[in-house]
Amino acid sequence: MSTAAVRQAPAWAISMLVHVVVLLSMALIVSSPPPKQVASIITSSGPEVEDEFTEFEEDLPDQPQVDTADPTADLTVTTEVEVTPVEVVSDANDLDAAPLAVEFTDFGTETAPASDMMATMGAVGGTAGGLGGRAQAGKLAAASGGGGDTEQAVDRSLKWILQHQMPDGGWSFDMKECPSCGGKCSGSGGSRAKDRTGATALALLPFLGRGYTHREGPYKAQIERGITFLAQRAVAGKGRAYDGNGNLYSQGLAGIALSECYAMSQDNRLAAPAQLALNFIMQSQDPVGGGWRYDPRQPGDTSAVGWQIMALKSGNMAFLQVNPLTVKKAVDFLNSVESENGARYGYTDASTPTAGRTAVGLLCRMYLGWKKDNPALQNGVNFLAKRGPTDDLYYDYYATQIMHHMEGEVWISWNKRMKEMLLKSQATKDHEAGSWHEGFDRGHAAESAGRLYCTSLATMILEVYYRHLPIYRTQMVDEEFQE
Ligand SMILES: [Zn+2]
Repeated sequence: MSTAAVRQAPAWAISMLVHVVVLLSMALIVSSPPPKQVASIITSSGPEVEDEFTEFEEDLPDQPQVDTADPTADLTVTTEVEVTPVEVVSDANDLDAAPLAVEFTDFGTETAPASDMMATMGAVGGTAGGLGGRAQAGKLAAASGGGGDTEQAVDRSLKWILQHQMPDGGWSFDMKECPSCGGKCSGSGGSRAKDRTGATALALLPFLGRGYTHREGPYKAQIERGITFLAQRAVAGKGRAYDGNGNLYSQGLAGIALSECYAMSQDNRLAAPAQLALNFIMQSQDPVGGGWRYDPRQPGDTSAVGWQIMALKSGNMAFLQVNPLTVKKAVDFLNSVESENGARYGYTDASTPTAGRTAVGLLCRMYLGWKKDNPALQNGVNFLAKRGPTDDLYYDYYATQIMHHMEGEVWISWNKRMKEMLLKSQATKDHEAGSWHEGFDRGHAAESAGRLYCTSLATMILEVYYRHLPIYRTQMVDEEFQE
């Protein structure tokens, strides 16, 4: 089929995508093999893109038919995508649970109503009513502890990230590889420097967090190229969005970015890539322990599990299919690494709890349904609050979200220290202006993924005021309403 024909028939393409999602949903419920489907995907023409994806060529049975001779060819083409069902690995108990577990309200043992989960996403733009980008973000920031200073810092950061977009639309942790930088910025990543998927997802998330997508805000064209880069990787890898330089950490980040962008933009072209990425995450879960690590089906670690749970949560809020059995097993993993009744979390077992792992574990628990008055959650929150923000932005990123969901004094105190530290430490000179790295380079993955990683985390921390509304806010309103 020619590109022109697709342009003339968007309605059926969109309709077909909806059917793919519906069929996927049915496949999960009835566990019978679904028919092969044809889906429309995002892909783009141009020689750079083809060069970038040569590494995937061996795995590509159906190359997108792109007419590279036509300079007017737009981003939409079709290709055949075989949407594979989630392979459910389960024991007898899980099978017993399956007929009941088709609703996301079973996401955890004491799950908040689904409406609470929905309320936490898209506060700025996107699905929660398209409240309208910049002005709304400013209001929400001011209402929960941010302000003009944090918003300006976010704007400076987004500009720095844009300056480091690669010619192929993606990003690299290696500043030296970026033609516009060429290493003028220090802090090129170390062992993760070549992971383009992780870098691109981390670069895009602060834009999405600000309410900007390829359909809204001042950076539509740049975001379109970035999200296309990720979508193409997810489709080319049949869900696996990373190459030999990445791992399941990259996959989790790509899953979050694709799901959030799909939910916020309501661009149906992203439905299949996002669902494929989530399917790969679900297929890659350790069938025994329920965790994730670097490679599919390895016994898990808390850090990798955190990104996958965030991806599944984002997918759920985007109305993509998330298998409740996957979530149930992820809870099993968290149980296996907890201590002090769930107030502390270790890495691959319960033996080595740290503040960073505890922050990841507790945020996962909150998303999986733990209530604010849960004693273990309160114990853990007090532990993190006493410690306060540190020079480890990974820990800060998770802990800040926890404190924001808790609200009240613990949040006010945390936020004051957190934003002061970030506003003080944002780079102001030369090419580095707007980014973060100095002072944070010893934190989790800060050395291996470098300045882009630190900048992404710091920016998302400063977007906490509006990126996700507190989980418990709707619940509180409901309780007040009942009184
Ligand atoms: Zn630079």
